[in-house]
Amino acid sequence: MRTKSSLWHFVSLPSLRFQIAFFGLVGSLLSIAHSASALEVARVFVFPVGNEWKAPGEGNEYVVIGGYCVWDAAQGGYHTGVDLSNGQEGGAVKAIAVGDVVRKTTGYSGGWGNSIVIRHLLPNGEYWCSRYAHLQDNSITVNVGDLVQIGQTIGLVGSTGLSSQPHLHLQITEGPEDPAYIPNAPCAMYGYPDPLKFIRDRLAAPLATEPSTWGHVKSLYRQ
Ligand SMILES: [Zn+2]
Repeated sequence: MRTKSSLWHFVSLPSLRFQIAFFGLVGSLLSIAHSASALEVARVFVFPVGNEWKAPGEGNEYVVIGGYCVWDAAQGGYHTGVDLSNGQEGGAVKAIAVGDVVRKTTGYSGGWGNSIVIRHLLPNGEYWCSRYAHLQDNSITVNVGDLVQIGQTIGLVGSTGLSSQPHLHLQITEGPEDPAYIPNAPCAMYGYPDPLKFIRDRLAAPLATEPSTWGHVKSLYRQ
């Protein structure tokens, strides 16, 4: 009996695993195909303010005035994004990649001020969201449901909501929706990656020989 039982396990387990893997794969492919029909895959990213291909402080006039995952004693929580500023309002805020607008806030909105959340579908089928907060009043040019292109201006840098000086708060979150803020949660453990590193790892590098680089970026993400 023992031999038979062992043999059964030997034969059936790989088979079961194969079935799970096979149907899981089919499901994933169907899911990706379905999503891709509605949303272009975000293959490359750019920085949202200043020079699209240079990180803030590294050839980009914008600098980080509020660091990622820094403890904020005043608010009693970790900073889930980065605060980018060149000292003034009015700079264009651009979508970091192709995606669709899934949320828009106006007024104080719990501190976000005027803000936009864009959902991005990555090549591996994962969804990630980018939030752009504290935008200038009446500057937002997109609405929920809009498809936006990489580098498309969605609003202007402002100081609305919980903000003491002009800056863009950029945060990136894992999943198809921007999750509720979890006070005191260590950022990386709750799906908030370092936004600048996230972009840098997927940066759309311009061709040095091409004076107008947008054509190149658009051709890159359509590949
Ligand atoms: Zn911030």
